[in-house]
Amino acid sequence: MTIDTGLLKRLVSENFQKQKGNYIFAILCMIFAAGSTAFSAYIMKDIVNEMMVSKNLQRVYLIAIVIFLVFLLKGFATYFQTYFMSKAGNRIIADQQRKLYSHILAQDATFFQRFSSSDFLTRITYNAQAARMVIETIVASFVRDLLTLLGLIAVMVIQQPYLAIGSLSMGPLAFLGLRMLIKKARYYMGQELASIAQLIHLVQETSVGIRVVKAFHLEDRLKARMNSAVRDIERQSNRMARVEAATSPIMETLAGAAIAGMLALSGVLVLRFGQTPGELMSFITALLLAYEPAKRLARMRVSIEGGLVGVRSMFELLDQPIVLKEKENATELNVPKGEIRLENVSFSYNKDVAVLERLNLTFGAGKTTAIAGPSGSGKSTIVNLIMRMYDPQSGRILIDGQDLTDVTFKSLRAGIAYVGQDLFLFTGTVRHNIAMGREDASEDEIIAAAKAANAHDFICELANGYDTEVGEAGGNLSGGQRQRITIARAILRDAPILVLDEPTSALDSESDALISDALERLSQGRTTIIIAHRLSTIAKADKIIVIESGKLVEQGSPKTLFEKNGRFQKLFASQTLQLV
Ligand code: ADP
Repeated sequence: MTIDTGLLKRLVSENFQKQKGNYIFAILCMIFAAGSTAFSAYIMKDIVNEMMVSKNLQRVYLIAIVIFLVFLLKGFATYFQTYFMSKAGNRIIADQQRKLYSHILAQDATFFQRFSSSDFLTRITYNAQAARMVIETIVASFVRDLLTLLGLIAVMVIQQPYLAIGSLSMGPLAFLGLRMLIKKARYYMGQELASIAQLIHLVQETSVGIRVVKAFHLEDRLKARMNSAVRDIERQSNRMARVEAATSPIMETLAGAAIAGMLALSGVLVLRFGQTPGELMSFITALLLAYEPAKRLARMRVSIEGGLVGVRSMFELLDQPIVLKEKENATELNVPKGEIRLENVSFSYNKDVAVLERLNLTFGAGKTTAIAGPSGSGKSTIVNLIMRMYDPQSGRILIDGQDLTDVTFKSLRAGIAYVGQDLFLFTGTVRHNIAMGREDASEDEIIAAAKAANAHDFICELANGYDTEVGEAGGNLSGGQRQRITIARAILRDAPILVLDEPTSALDSESDALISDALERLSQGRTTIIIAHRLSTIAKADKIIVIESGKLVEQGSPKTLFEKNGRFQKLFASQTLQLV
């Protein structure tokens, strides 16, 4: 068997169990439907013999009524079977999608570098669908068609054992013919999924980067890339369709040979050897009825192979280990003062390049510390470690004496508010975006936070005030406005520790003044860490830490560092040039 049975087993064992009720009911209905098909072939014997041999019209009427009733019940059985199968299938998709999303959310930041967002999309949509398709095909084909086929084979064997053996010998031939097709199906499906992922990626990138696309007039280039992705998908789909369709000529030829051969033999048996025609009619009916389920069973393997490609890539995502884990006995972070210490912290994103080496730092409780240093020196890395986006390879990070790895994520996140450079807003209204800072915030608290962030006035001037939609990723608002909303969000959070990543690009001077004012208010009474790029910000800090190539090269109050002719002075000199 070429089918990856391990994968199938896992898919079934993880999902079938939970949907047992629905599936058992559906399977019972299938058993009934399969039985009624076999019965309708079996009863042909009586119809023919009653008509041609006993010539009993009463019995024929009775048989006709029984056949009608059997078909009626079969109709209902098929209805329930289809409904319960779909219900279970839909639940499986929903479960897989929830599982995939939770798994993605639990991952650390490196994971998001390894997989692109369009990759997630493909896996969460197409691949979860594939899981359902595969399970449905297995239950539908395997159970329904196999049972029907077995029922019909039983009828064939009962009525004409020798002829039955003759026609069954076609089975192995069909199996051989299909093996080749299955291999191809697996390959083409893999290619098709890759092209679909590319298409989603392209559309997403276009939407996020539309300004750059227009500014650099990249439309034609993107169109060409899209054309090529679409063409690939079309080509692979056609190939897949051809493989699926190719099952037909193989099956038709073999079935034709079986049926024709058996007909000829039956003729000989009746006409030359005087057999009653009923048994033969019943046999031939069963043989003809067996053809469709046999064909579907053969095809099933091709479709399952195609579907499993998606299932495999879904499991691949689910099997990514979660690196950042909360300890089982994790405690609540308690922040009475807000002192942060890095002790001998070493860290690298990939094993070969050390970014931080045995770093020792202290961020004073309730004080503002500015981290300065050239680009790429490790400033963001320090902040990422303090927020536990990654864990250091060695050393410890302590907040008021508690190791970050010992506390719950929830309490750690509640202890830290973050205002980053990316100014990310969620799709939704201004209110919704500020309220993301704290779940249970009241309307008054939201407005107070907006006021403290110098955002209230501009929000009131927006078309719908706090109910204005910010657009995808905040696209309807200016940079300065977005910044103030992210500050309001952080103010609402009211966390004892504040992490700020100062924007490198200066905004218009009015926005700038409003933002500095808001940030100053926000940092009061909190332990504040600022990745600072501007002299004005650095000058206001209580302490400056200068980082170069992941090492602490200088630290002290702004006054001492301004006066000392050291690394900070050098950095400062180059920065004034940039600022002017
Ligand atoms: P800064 O904030 O001072 O500009 P970073 O902390 O961002 O510096 O980067 C420090 C070093 O780590 C740089 O050499 C950078 O290329 C590398 N780096 C930063 N982020 C990643 C990442 N996610 N994966 C791999 N390397 C990274």
